[in-house]
Amino acid sequence: MTDPAKGKSLVMRHDVDELAWNALKMAQLENKLGIRATYFFRIVKQSNVPEVIKQIVGLGHEIGYHYEDLALAEGDEVQAIGTFKENLEYFRKYYPVRSVCMHGSSTSKYDNRLLWKNHSLSDFGLVGEPYLSIDFDKVFYLTDTGYAWDGGKFATRDIVENKFGLKFHTTSQIVDCIKAGNFPAQALILAHTLWTDSLIQWNGLHLREFFRNNLKLLAKNNPIVERFYGKIVELYWKK
Ligand SMILES: [Zn+2]
Repeated sequence: MTDPAKGKSLVMRHDVDELAWNALKMAQLENKLGIRATYFFRIVKQSNVPEVIKQIVGLGHEIGYHYEDLALAEGDEVQAIGTFKENLEYFRKYYPVRSVCMHGSSTSKYDNRLLWKNHSLSDFGLVGEPYLSIDFDKVFYLTDTGYAWDGGKFATRDIVENKFGLKFHTTSQIVDCIKAGNFPAQALILAHTLWTDSLIQWNGLHLREFFRNNLKLLAKNNPIVERFYGKIVELYWKK
């Protein structure tokens, strides 16, 4: 979204890590508000729900590919670039995908971005990868990674240094900052699709994310916890 008259622009990005139907609700709400966002889908079945993708495209939003090919291929670059190409073609059946962004794959030792060490985005007709194409000295990055606006310490790879000196805990603090005219003119907001209007699901997710964040922190310094957490994550995505 841009407002050239005021020199303002905002990229509204949603990573659909799981709970794809929640993404659809978010997309419907944004559509009503006149907001056009970008929804990044993973290839795993918790994210890749064709009916949801089709409806989100129908609401006028952009679709991107949330890739994790290097982690899924256990670091095998040839295999990873092969599946990346296949998966990109798959998502292009729904939308002419022009941008991709890496999934953090926090339990994998492979950083998905390393796929671009020997390949270039333009070879695939892509114009952007937020972690590589955006100058975060100029563009303010606000993310709900860790299930909070200030949950950055729980992130493993989704880390961008904040040079704007802004820190938010609640959404109303963000709104106040915008109203006061102090919000940066260029921003990228990443909101995952774990947000829900069901109180039961909201409480369940809150509890799960609380334990997950603390396990992730512990796993950073403890190899046994790291293996245990890795195993749980592996089982969860296989289910
Ligand atoms: Zn992700």
